[in-house]
Amino acid sequence: MQLTQRSKQVDRKPMTWLESLYLWNIAKGMAITMSHFFKRKPTIQYPEQTRTFSKVFRGLHVLNRDAEGRENCTACGLCAVACPAEAITMEAAERQPGEENLYREEKYAAKYEINMLRCIFCGLCEEACPKDAIYLSQTFAPANYGRKGFIYKKTDLLIPHPLKDPEAYQKALGEKEARN
Ligand code: SF4
Ligand code: SF4
Repeated sequence: MQLTQRSKQVDRKPMTWLESLYLWNIAKGMAITMSHFFKRKPTIQYPEQTRTFSKVFRGLHVLNRDAEGRENCTACGLCAVACPAEAITMEAAERQPGEENLYREEKYAAKYEINMLRCIFCGLCEEACPKDAIYLSQTFAPANYGRKGFIYKKTDLLIPHPLKDPEAYQKALGEKEARN
């Protein structure tokens, strides 16, 4: 019994001498190849050219600062608890007198790491964060030869300082604002 009408009966009769030269099939193949010369190219010249990602694209994480450059993260651990891949680890520390310009609240993340090999870019860490301290940007983790290169430390994740490097800060923030 046939389930669809798409099946084709295989022709098993021996090929003629002319058919065994495959000239007609080669010509058909070349015609298909030539027809692609005149079609719009679906490939792009990466990395010189990049595609525009969807607004909801979730890429590499960024640890956010406030407008004065202070780190937002208070090392509450909610992102690590929400992470289904257990990709986030951190160590909390107390802010010392004189460090008010570095950390927004009394507690901060002395160490913050994300294992990008575990991460599934679900965005739950961003959803869980009550301090607007982490968001997923529109860039993706670059390729690396070693596993250690995929363990992103706090220095890799922190957004540029808004006062020291305002251009880079605005660029990183621009991606976030475009998604909101
Ligand atoms: S995006 Fe998802 S998997 Fe990746 S660190 Fe955040 S919560 Fe974990
Ligand atoms: S990123 Fe947000 S949720 Fe995670 S520890 Fe920092 S403040 Fe808490």
